[in-house]
Amino acid sequence: MDADGRLPGIILLGSEGDEQARLLAERTGCTIHHVQGDHLALYTAESYCEAFLEAVSGMLPAIVLLPHSSMGSDLAPRLAVKMGASCITGVEKAHGRSFTRSVCSGRFLSDIIPLTDSVVVTVVPGASPPYAPEACEAGTIEKIPSTRRSSRTRALGVQGPLHRDSALRDAEVIVSAGRGVGKKENMALISELASYFPRSAVGGSRPVCDLGWLDYARQIGTTGQTVGPKVYMACGISGAMQHVAGMKGAQVIIAVNTDPEASIFRVAHYCIVEDITTFIPVLLEELNKG
Ligand SMILES: Cc1cc2nc3c(=O)[nH]c(=O)nc-3n(C[C@H](O)[C@H](O)[C@H](O)COP(=O)(O)OP(=O)(O)OC[C@H]3O[C@@H](n4cnc5c(N)ncnc54)[C@H](O)[C@@H]3O)c2cc1C
Repeated sequence: MDADGRLPGIILLGSEGDEQARLLAERTGCTIHHVQGDHLALYTAESYCEAFLEAVSGMLPAIVLLPHSSMGSDLAPRLAVKMGASCITGVEKAHGRSFTRSVCSGRFLSDIIPLTDSVVVTVVPGASPPYAPEACEAGTIEKIPSTRRSSRTRALGVQGPLHRDSALRDAEVIVSAGRGVGKKENMALISELASYFPRSAVGGSRPVCDLGWLDYARQIGTTGQTVGPKVYMACGISGAMQHVAGMKGAQVIIAVNTDPEASIFRVAHYCIVEDITTFIPVLLEELNKG
């Protein structure tokens, strides 16, 4: 959106993407600025930043929205510096020029107002329902060949995960571990609990994967997998937006956490305030009786 409040436009960067441009124009009614160039086939912060600035040349966008993904988090600060704009990351809600983001693992919300005319914002995926306009006229597509090539960096390729795990996607019950599990040995409790249910799987939050307690293929959230099981049991998970975005589609959410104020309890249907090393053994004992 530009500083005069003109209608939003969407900037699409890449070497191809004609089909995506058409779909975006049809579904949103917005003008699509489709910046194309062979050097944009693979993302680098340098080339995408240059291509973006080329597309908005002569305009000062009031608000630039990027996804709060690894790519968005990499690109946003660079773009903000080049535009002389503020940069606000991990935004969940916007009211005019006030942006809300959660802090301290989602326990508090902070409202931030940029003091510059222009602001670059990264938006947490899944923080709001998908944009679904009433029947609208398709927007126009403006093709912009990108001529500026970055000379300092070049992407060599993209390596996918070594193995893809479909267990999470197919599971009806997911027992998920968070940092509150405390130590790798306690992951056995999570696996044992999961094993009581047919079509079950073990998942986890990002720190659990970062700590090497679980394979990255089992990470749930914005940078992991999105799941929609019948039952999702969050054990020692705080409920940060990035995690919740990947599991809030579960039919029933059960959360076990020692902190009664944990934000996971805002989305959970059943809230158990207890230490998992106390709760899970008791639950296993009961299940054994059955
Ligand atoms: C760009 C970006 C992408 C991200 N993508 C993801 C993602 O895909 N998935 C993801 O999960 N995170 C992601 N994150 C990280 C996310 O912001 C949080 O940091 C993370 O989800 C927190 O994980 P956690 O809940 O396991 O740990 P913490 O936030 O440390 O929470 C641990 C919880 O365990 C509780 N606890 C402690 N001990 C016990 C106990 N004995 N029994 C019961 N409860 C206990 C605590 O009260 C606390 O609530 C991303 C972050 C960024 C910036």
